[in-house]
Amino acid sequence: MRDTIAMPLLYLAAGTLFIVGLRGITHPRTARRGLLAAVLGMAAAIVGTLIHQDVVTYRWILIAAVVGSLVGGAMAKYMPMTAMPERIALSHAFGALAAGLVGAAEYYEHFESLNAFLAAALMFEVVLGFVTFTGSLMAFGKLKGILPGRPTVFPGQQLLNAVLFTATVAVAVWLVAAPSTAALFPVLVTLAALFGILLVVPIGGADMPTVISLLNSYAGLSGAAMGLVLDNKALIIAGALDGASGFLLSLIMSRAMNRSFRNVLFGAFGQVDATAVQDGRSAEERPVRSASIDEAAMLLAAARDVIVVPGYGLAVAQAQHRIREVGEILERNGTRVRYAIHPVAGRMPGHMNVLLAEADVPYDRILDMDDINSDFAQADVALVVGANDVTNPAARTQPDSPIYGMPILDVAAARTVMVVKRGMNAGFAGVENELYHLEKTLMLFGDAKDVATSLARELEDAQQGQRV
Ligand code: NDP
Repeated sequence: MRDTIAMPLLYLAAGTLFIVGLRGITHPRTARRGLLAAVLGMAAAIVGTLIHQDVVTYRWILIAAVVGSLVGGAMAKYMPMTAMPERIALSHAFGALAAGLVGAAEYYEHFESLNAFLAAALMFEVVLGFVTFTGSLMAFGKLKGILPGRPTVFPGQQLLNAVLFTATVAVAVWLVAAPSTAALFPVLVTLAALFGILLVVPIGGADMPTVISLLNSYAGLSGAAMGLVLDNKALIIAGALDGASGFLLSLIMSRAMNRSFRNVLFGAFGQVDATAVQDGRSAEERPVRSASIDEAAMLLAAARDVIVVPGYGLAVAQAQHRIREVGEILERNGTRVRYAIHPVAGRMPGHMNVLLAEADVPYDRILDMDDINSDFAQADVALVVGANDVTNPAARTQPDSPIYGMPILDVAAARTVMVVKRGMNAGFAGVENELYHLEKTLMLFGDAKDVATSLARELEDAQQGQRV
């Protein structure tokens, strides 16, 4: 009885809270509230599931909940924000593995009595579950640097992927038509797992964020199918929301990156040209102009219009508070200061917005690439802090570059470009940046936080000197 009234109500509350949560996280102002709603929704869904009359004992559930909470809590506390994509990839891998294993357990328990609809939902769940499991592990390995981050390509790759895909679909269809052919089930799991690996192998460089969001969508769809198999409404709602939002995010990101979505789906893009990578190695030998902190501070103090371009290096150095201080000092001097955000700056969508919001940079100074790109031409200084790929002109000029076609921030149009980074290392995509060799570019070598701290001090001293 307890699950006939309370359970549907709790599931309804969970579904509503998930939707409120998704709506909330669309804006930094409401993001915290949105996340809280999602957490409450998940709690309602868990309680709703635990009161199900088929639960025989709570002992194993409790043990799993404690272990899961400890691992999840530790991951949330100790993994830095810059490692967020790896963490997300790992979460997708675990979630998808769970869906795949539940599907396998359901299959072996019921394969003799499965109807066509349930069999189809089950095969969908298992295939997507195992594709996402191995695909996400590959993405994790690439992002973490355990596997080569660059796309791995070999002759006949597209054909092999097509054959694997066809074979997976064929075996799944066979199992739907004849569910009791149990010998084929391990074959299906193996094919799906292999396909997941080969799907992500040829992807790399600037395209990883889109792939991660696509894997998110696959994990959601697999969860929704699991909801159908288990007749669990909360899983269907949560999985459908996850699947749809991940899919839409992938679409938006591939559009923002100027990539064909068809290529993302079939894992055949982001291919690197060997010469483009070798060029990166010769970067050290070409001349660049470096500036001292005093010179940079003088230039900034004289500027009327400054656009700050934050990137991954700012996040690593945790320089957001110091950069905000630099901006405030310049504003006191009458300078207009704005922050330009590229859609994939940093290591996760919205990474820079989160950091700048955390440092209390007013929202109206933070502008998306499309809204600010045309303003670089009027800016006196483009201050690039730990950003590299998102400013690289090769995306426009070098068809053989792995980032070719990706839109970039138009920093080279500013009167002066100042780049804060530690040395001449390449960015995520591993390619040289011509920007650093331009006449108008000044390099400020050092850790972003140290440089920003010194700049703030120098500018402050200069302002106080003027007042005395
Ligand atoms: P990049 O990774 O291209 O470049 C970052 C630069 O920061 C490096 O060249 C590095 O140079 C410098 N750097 C590193 N540490 C420091 C430090 N402590 N102080 C100062 N500088 C530092 O960053 P971008 O933000 O420009 O581009 C993001 C890249 O990441 C894109 O290719 C994007 O596709 C990819 N990506 C984005 C994701 C997203 O969702 N946003 C997810 C996954 C990947 P040096 O070592 O010389 O200091």
